[in-house]
Amino acid sequence: MATRIDGKVISAQVLDEVATDAAAFLEDYGIKPGLAVVLVGEDPASQVYVRNKIARATESGLNSIEHRLPIDTTQETLNQLVAALNVDPAVHGILVQLPLPAHLDEEQIIAAISPEKDVDGFHPVNVGALSVGKESLVPCTPQGCMIMIGKVLGDDLSGKHAVVVGRSNIVGKPMAALLLQANCTVTVVHSRTNNPQALAQQADILVAAVGRPEMIGADWVKPGATVIDVGINVIERNGQRKLVGDVDYAAVEPVAAAITPVPGGVGPMTIACLMKNTLTAARRLMSDEL
Ligand code: NDP
Repeated sequence: MATRIDGKVISAQVLDEVATDAAAFLEDYGIKPGLAVVLVGEDPASQVYVRNKIARATESGLNSIEHRLPIDTTQETLNQLVAALNVDPAVHGILVQLPLPAHLDEEQIIAAISPEKDVDGFHPVNVGALSVGKESLVPCTPQGCMIMIGKVLGDDLSGKHAVVVGRSNIVGKPMAALLLQANCTVTVVHSRTNNPQALAQQADILVAAVGRPEMIGADWVKPGATVIDVGINVIERNGQRKLVGDVDYAAVEPVAAAITPVPGGVGPMTIACLMKNTLTAARRLMSDEL
């Protein structure tokens, strides 16, 4: 039976550390680390994510500053807000909740955020820094996955074969970069990969970030593998709405050595790492000012 990698427990540990750091930061500088969260429109899932992020920030002793903008907000208005947050000394981290409404240019907004305050780690400067192994703000979801992997396998992942299923800019690619940095041999599988299942079967560490409910079955998994399920999919089963991952948990659990559940796995880690990034950004910004 596989070890269940409990994201609730591990994220609580991360948030405890953040709360301790935030208290020390307040002591050192007389202000709380500030996280600005920008939400455009009323997408129900985004509203839930933003509410959770604000709640965790407040609980961790951060100053959360919420900006809710109407769905018909123009690019110019959003740019002006981001520009103001970039120079606001009370703001150390800026998060623009994605996806934005279709008329807004996401790439341009991400690039408009100051890289020092880019707590999502999506700015090209941070993406580039990660890919060449320099200090950067690391995207929250893959950062959270690495913490979970470390809890199971320890700090030394040298020589492990990691297979990442999915190559998105926000999960798959940074995940692969982090695993490579940790001395894994990394294979990235995507929708054009020939026989992805055969590659996944070779993985010591298998990360699923596909967005396809329960696609990864037992026959994708090497016995004894560590399986990290990033997927969040809402399905209807027996007339009820249910949240499932990209991994078929019930089928894979007997094969894997360790596995993350959905919900209660990677999701809480993502939010905890957002708080961690805000602290990192705040510390770096303040030390730059000295
Ligand atoms: P994207 O849709 O951006 O990327 C999905 C990736 O999966 C693509 O690279 C795609 O390949 C690949 N893919 C699709 N079908 C297959 C297939 N049959 N075989 C192999 N690869 C395939 O998704 P995201 O990376 O944004 O998110 C992935 C999942 O993670 C979603 O369920 C999302 O909700 C969840 N998520 C969870 C988070 C959390 O905090 N837990 C945070 C972010 C995302 P190609 O590039 O060729 O199209």
